[in-house]
Amino acid sequence: MLELRGMPVTKAMTENLEVEIQKLKEEGIEPKLSIIRVGNREDDLSYERGVEKRFKSVGALVETRELPQTVSQEELEQCIEEVNKDDRVHGLLLFRPLPHHLNEERIKLLLAEEKDVDCLTTANDAHVFSGDKKGYAPCTPQAVMELLEFYNIDLTGKKVVIIGRSMVVGKPLAMLMLAQNATVTICHTKTKNLKEECKRADILIAAAGVPKLVTEEYVGEGQIIIDVGIHMVEDKLCGDVDYEAVAEKTSAITPVPGGVGCATTAVLLKHTVMSAKRKKDEEKVYI
Ligand code: NAD
Repeated sequence: MLELRGMPVTKAMTENLEVEIQKLKEEGIEPKLSIIRVGNREDDLSYERGVEKRFKSVGALVETRELPQTVSQEELEQCIEEVNKDDRVHGLLLFRPLPHHLNEERIKLLLAEEKDVDCLTTANDAHVFSGDKKGYAPCTPQAVMELLEFYNIDLTGKKVVIIGRSMVVGKPLAMLMLAQNATVTICHTKTKNLKEECKRADILIAAAGVPKLVTEEYVGEGQIIIDVGIHMVEDKLCGDVDYEAVAEKTSAITPVPGGVGCATTAVLLKHTVMSAKRKKDEEKVYI
């Protein structure tokens, strides 16, 4: 059984990106991410610290706008407009879910598509779902794709089963895998015979948000398992897969922690650098 660890993926991505960032800096461009955080949720703060560390380690810039939990729609929209107008900012990370009084649908239409490095906007969803290469996929599904590529796992003709149909993980991941010629089944809470569906996969992706949902009964011999879930249970991190119970049955499996989650900040960095490069290339065309 091969353990598909995220750190080597992140390291390889970051080393490549550091070179790209140096080249951009030689042309006077400093890739910069803006973070907008509403409130102080501990998991947002923890991710934010991870992003800051990753960006700073390679000389990319991050600025954080911290807004109170009670922020008005108008104030939030004004912040987004400022990001849109700021030529030095190449990407935005907005933590979600937003508090209930805020209208996320309006934000999805407001953010400039070219700065949408974590696939918040409707325009970027359209790019991901149509399979063109213009947009930026959400960081977590893209991290799964980076991990599979790093470990040379070819998707062509493979039967992939994804548990979860959210717009943050399950659905966009299905589209990314389809674009690489996998045969994809998406399962959800109303799926009948979930265990049987899972068992017949070559590659099983768990993104249900249920701790240790995937037990030995869900897993076929020699499968590859990617665990996207992340939960704190009795002060210990675990995924949607019962790792101890299934690992020996698989040919490869991601651990939690130390799997997919490790690579998401590297994807955010990659998208921010891509955005800075695209802006530079567009400006060249119009000179
Ligand atoms: P979500 O709650 O929005 O969606 C969960 C999906 O799973 C739903 O479509 C639902 O139909 C399905 N589902 C739930 N319970 C099920 C069950 N018992 N059987 C079959 N299907 C079931 O969650 P999400 O935002 O898509 O996140 C999924 C998981 O990924 C969570 O554990 C979350 O913490 C994790 N996550 C990890 C990262 C990361 O960086 N590693 C990032 C985002 C989300």
